[in-house]
Amino acid sequence: MLLVSINRIKRFVFCLISLLIVEFSGLTKEPLNFVIIFTDDQGYGDMSCNGHPTIHTPNLDQMAYQGQKWTQFYSAAAVCTPSRAALMTGRLPVRSGMASSKRVVLFPDSAGGLPQNEITIAEILKGAGYKTGMVGKWHMGHLPQHLPTTQGFDSYYGIPYSNDMDRDSNVKGDWVEIGKTAPWSIYQVPLIKNGTVVERPVNQNTITRRYTEEAVKFITNNKESSFFLYLAHSMPHIPLYASKNFKGKSLNGIYGDVIQEIDWSVGEVVNALKKHDLHKKTIVMFTSDNGPWEVFKTHGGSSGLLRGAKGGTREGGMREPAIFWGPGNVKPGVVQGLGSTLDVLPTFASLAGAKIPEERKIDGYDLSEVLLTQGNSPRKEMYYFGGAKLSAIRFENYKVQLREANGINPKKLTKPELYHLGEDPSEKYNLASKHPEIIKDLINRGEKMKSGIKEVPDQLIPKTLN
Ligand code: MG
Repeated sequence: MLLVSINRIKRFVFCLISLLIVEFSGLTKEPLNFVIIFTDDQGYGDMSCNGHPTIHTPNLDQMAYQGQKWTQFYSAAAVCTPSRAALMTGRLPVRSGMASSKRVVLFPDSAGGLPQNEITIAEILKGAGYKTGMVGKWHMGHLPQHLPTTQGFDSYYGIPYSNDMDRDSNVKGDWVEIGKTAPWSIYQVPLIKNGTVVERPVNQNTITRRYTEEAVKFITNNKESSFFLYLAHSMPHIPLYASKNFKGKSLNGIYGDVIQEIDWSVGEVVNALKKHDLHKKTIVMFTSDNGPWEVFKTHGGSSGLLRGAKGGTREGGMREPAIFWGPGNVKPGVVQGLGSTLDVLPTFASLAGAKIPEERKIDGYDLSEVLLTQGNSPRKEMYYFGGAKLSAIRFENYKVQLREANGINPKKLTKPELYHLGEDPSEKYNLASKHPEIIKDLINRGEKMKSGIKEVPDQLIPKTLN
């Protein structure tokens, strides 16, 4: 009798252990889907959950509440092209030639693009059996050999560069005023579906809505498989246009209208995931490519309490609004650890069980433990480049500012400045005279990092037209 009971207990314990092994090894779980929602020139302060008083973002706020809101999350550049290259490759853009000291970003006359020998997160996930789709602004080369479909995406629908490019040369006057007031028809930008131009100029009043419809279609069409969707909105980069339902609705003017339409779009993506019961096996990430475009005043956004804006390497240029959402997977809370768009590739690859390239330097960290358990972030440092020049270095709470990075030729400061970003997130109180040893340490870290960067062709220089 006693022997029978012991055997039963043994069997029970064995079954329990087997179940636990299966559970913790993830064998019972289906692979996670990934959605990146990327905005253009949205400032750190431009969500109500980051304190904006006159822009209403209920969908983002709910995602932040149900997921993780990161308060110290960085893009790897203060302008579009290099920032996007870092997101796609997990590498500082100087390593791929996508950051330049000659031209700020790629233009319609550019011949360059993200080199084919770079490995993108789309290529990694595609290799792991994912369906991959991109909707929106690419800005890593618009010639056929550089489009998203050559970099791991099965499909592409979007404007290949900034929505203010290809401006009608007959329109003369102050470029800031034009950016604020001109109709969309003066920007002869193309809308590309896979390799074909389907509309030119693009009716930008409806582009946010149409990107959203394409994104929802991609989710619906791929609901039976694992998928990776990269939805990169063309706005709130100027010029700003909103569709009928959003125009004039925000207290913040057209900039607020645009953000509120993007917030609606976020809600549509989440609703599509819920409708197909995919929300518990999908991680949605929301962030922006760089800080707000200050020169456009009320048509540019807000960095909140951060100093600086787009184009610069003060915090407002590169610290972004950032949310990770994934019910049942992402542990809810506010994360104050450091993170970067550089970390997306190693994090998603790790969560997908895909292999991370080993033969090249990846600057990103795997943040999956932070997402799943609220563990400490492995990222302790951030390097801020102005063009191809290292302009500031952060390690833990201290940041040294070496150059005032506005545009591609950041001017060297007469003396380095030092800030404690924990106690002084607005970079108001220079501590340089108090802590020369910290400045030295930070500069050494920067020099060490720079010594590992190999020179590669500058992808932003070559032009198709001369
Ligand atoms: Mg941008």
